[in-house]
Amino acid sequence: MSATIIDGKAFAAGLRAGIGRAVAGLAEEGVTPGLAVVIVGEDAASQIYVRNKVRQTLAAGMRSFDHVLPASTGEADLLALVGRLNADPEVDGILVQLPLPGQIDPQRVIEAIDPAKDVDGFHPVNAGRLLAGAPAFVPCTPLGSLLLIKSVLPRLAGLDALVIGRSSIVGKPMAQLLLQQDCTVTMAHSRTRDLPGLCGRADILVAAVGRPELVRGDWLKPGAVVIDVGINRVPDPAAGEGRTRVVGDVAFREAAAVAGAITPVPGGVGPMTIACLLRNTLQAACLRHGLPMPAL
Ligand code: NDP
Repeated sequence: MSATIIDGKAFAAGLRAGIGRAVAGLAEEGVTPGLAVVIVGEDAASQIYVRNKVRQTLAAGMRSFDHVLPASTGEADLLALVGRLNADPEVDGILVQLPLPGQIDPQRVIEAIDPAKDVDGFHPVNAGRLLAGAPAFVPCTPLGSLLLIKSVLPRLAGLDALVIGRSSIVGKPMAQLLLQQDCTVTMAHSRTRDLPGLCGRADILVAAVGRPELVRGDWLKPGAVVIDVGINRVPDPAAGEGRTRVVGDVAFREAAAVAGAITPVPGGVGPMTIACLLRNTLQAACLRHGLPMPAL
């Protein structure tokens, strides 16, 4: 069997185009969604990610407000900025890029963001609403992963889903979303006893671990839909001394020979994350202005 490769880049481009059209429609109502992005320090990966966010926010016709703070910024100063952004009527969504420097407690910062502007979906109010099945801002990576799953499997009811990883930003909300779709959900983590056995029963497998190529092809149920969230940089001696490449949490080539559909890394879940951030910002703007969320 040779799996369908789920093209997250193309799917995300389509989603962004739909968001762009919706934003143009909102402009006629005098509303331009605004996203504030706050980055503290010089983490290279975060800076690249934030640059992409700003570029794509502007390309979708939204306003982008970036706040680049020095690595030495204290928690009180960051909380004061979050307070100002909460009160700013031009700002619909607030994103504070993680990780933060050690002197700042990320949980305090997340909890300081107005839940109505929490487009990352990390605030406990939104996490609780998701758990309760109430309308919520859903974290972008699991939301994007669900959209990719549904692009190849429109009806998920009754399917066995395995989520590997139980972080608050990926694994736990992913499991909630699959449960809402009436899947029978199993969560695995570092203490799980028989990971290959669980993988072998899963119709849908989401790997969000951060361990290069942990999931092997011969663990999978033939025909399974495999979503690889992992982003791992590994040495690439074939490309030259000191060179690296990015791989997922799933051994792609082996898995593609067994799975029914699979996301590549890069080009799978990654591009969906920013597209879903823009989607959440659009949703926040609509909610704040009492407008219906346009169909995308
Ligand atoms: P965390 O480190 O917060 O969580 C990793 C999870 O994996 C933990 O629950 C841990 O278990 C579990 N785990 C670790 N080792 C094993 C193992 N051997 N077997 C089974 N489970 C294991 O990571 P994140 O959730 O933040 O991210 C996961 C991956 O997804 C990373 O590679 C990250 O870079 C990537 N990522 C990609 C995004 C994208 O846009 N595509 C966005 C966010 C993340 P335990 O709880 O027991 O420690």
